[in-house]
Amino acid sequence: MPELPEVETVRLRLSWHCVGRKIVSNCISSAQFRSPLPMDLDLCDRTLRGVDRHGKLLLLGFDDGSHLLIHLGMTGCFLFGSSRDRQPSTHDHLSLEFGDGTYASFNDRRRFGVITYYSSADSEAFSARLDTLGPDALSSSFDAEYLRSRLHTRNAPIKALLMDQQLVAGIGNIYSCESLFRARISPDRPGRSLSLSEADELIVAIKSTLWRSIALGGATLDDYRGRIGEMGTFDQEFTVFGRGGQPCPGCTCRAGIVQTRCAGRVTYHCPERQH
Ligand SMILES: [Zn+2]
Repeated sequence: MPELPEVETVRLRLSWHCVGRKIVSNCISSAQFRSPLPMDLDLCDRTLRGVDRHGKLLLLGFDDGSHLLIHLGMTGCFLFGSSRDRQPSTHDHLSLEFGDGTYASFNDRRRFGVITYYSSADSEAFSARLDTLGPDALSSSFDAEYLRSRLHTRNAPIKALLMDQQLVAGIGNIYSCESLFRARISPDRPGRSLSLSEADELIVAIKSTLWRSIALGGATLDDYRGRIGEMGTFDQEFTVFGRGGQPCPGCTCRAGIVQTRCAGRVTYHCPERQH
């Protein structure tokens, strides 16, 4: 499932292709979606003002104050191109045609994605939706003091806590494993056991891992394609994720990377390096 760097890669492409363009027609076929858009939704004559991101959510803002909030789910992606050459797919759930003859369509083969529309009158509901999330993992408010304050009463494993979107938004299974390895912290440590300096090291590890992945266009996994023909390469730099049984890149431990389960999710770590 795409996490913060993969969603940021999509955000950058959406901004590049669509911001400042006026919609001249839209097509919705989301009847089989988890939360279907109203089939009569008409976005014509609206100009896309900007594309923001909070955690794994994309926020498309239009010039009339309305928003589309998009979660990519497992396989959601955007396709772009010239309307003339467009070949509609049964998996296109929302297509926007722009006045300059280009289009963007949201394509989702497995339909775990979610698109929600908020009119300008729904701004309170839009804010309330975002308020259910913790700070974005790359924001300055996600710092050691904040992390420590949210962990010091928690017994759950630190890895599970990092993946809790209400605590911090954007981190999933991949980037929690990779960041904990870099910070030398065991995924099974109770949240409350982290010292302030460990929280600080973990914050640095998380942010540097996320930025490195963004620089490489995110990671490419079986289920995720940022855009057809264009994929990120951070998966080639994974230190532990998906590498159970392989030699450990961080030390000379004999066992290598160990695959376990933590809070129900497959987890990778080095028991000698991470404590
Ligand atoms: Zn090791």
